[in-house]
Amino acid sequence: MTVTPEQLRDLASRAEALTAEVRALCVGAQNGTPEPGHLTTARQAAEWLARGAADLELAAEDLARLQTPPCAFRWGVCPEHGNTLSSKAGVSECRVCRRTWTYNRLDQPCGEPVTWRVIDRAGTETQMCDGHVLGARAAAGGATFARLDAPIGQP
Ligand SMILES: [Zn+2]
Ligand SMILES: [Zn+2]
Repeated sequence: MTVTPEQLRDLASRAEALTAEVRALCVGAQNGTPEPGHLTTARQAAEWLARGAADLELAAEDLARLQTPPCAFRWGVCPEHGNTLSSKAGVSECRVCRRTWTYNRLDQPCGEPVTWRVIDRAGTETQMCDGHVLGARAAAGGATFARLDAPIGQP
């Protein structure tokens, strides 16, 4: 059986829902101090469930990263600013953030993690990284942009 990030995210959201239910139960049942033992135990269980949910989300992210091939553009960009690099003497620098790379990044395949799906007007889909999507946004009129790793509960 192959595990998918969607399965892990689904389990994470169920664990989150369960956490919220247990917490609500504890709050609802709590009247007076000291807290009865069974409520303390249940409250601790809620903490474990919350940690479990967070871990499952991490696992989903890890898996999604593993499954996504890197950005296939044949030149590098600044991961934050896009086509803002200039190279001289084997060093590339972003004109915006002044970050430097000690190799000619413009001559290297991108290889950054793919985070966006871009569908142009003709219906051709290209997957690309944060940096390359900036250039694509500037160039492509009428294209559709969708984040690959939209958080749980968002389209
Ligand atoms: Zn930059
Ligand atoms: Zn890229």
